[in-house]
Amino acid sequence: MQNDDVRAQLIRAFPAEVVEARGTRNEIYYACPTCSRAVAQGMDKCLGCSQVLSWKNINEMMASNGMRKAVLEFEVASDFTNGNCRKCPLSYIGKGDTGNVYECPLDMRSACPIKLC
Ligand SMILES: [Zn+2]
Repeated sequence: MQNDDVRAQLIRAFPAEVVEARGTRNEIYYACPTCSRAVAQGMDKCLGCSQVLSWKNINEMMASNGMRKAVLEFEVASDFTNGNCRKCPLSYIGKGDTGNVYECPLDMRSACPIKLC
């Protein structure tokens, strides 16, 4: 075995932070920092290159406030504008004082957070 290989093996024996990556459908997955192969969450070693993996940063990030950010992508009509619950596919019909109204399931009717792309 050549010296370079021994060195490379030694380096891989030190835990390296997994990297967060995004897949083709924008889903988050975790990848080996050495060979970029996808690794299952919590895995302690990369199956591809034997890199020892560390999940410290990711665990800290998830535990920081107990909350993660979630993004939902959906289609709206081209004439949709923020706060236009009538045109929003998330809205549902509820009973208001003056009859049926379009209700926001997130209760954000006046501060509609939808970002149009
Ligand atoms: Zn690897």
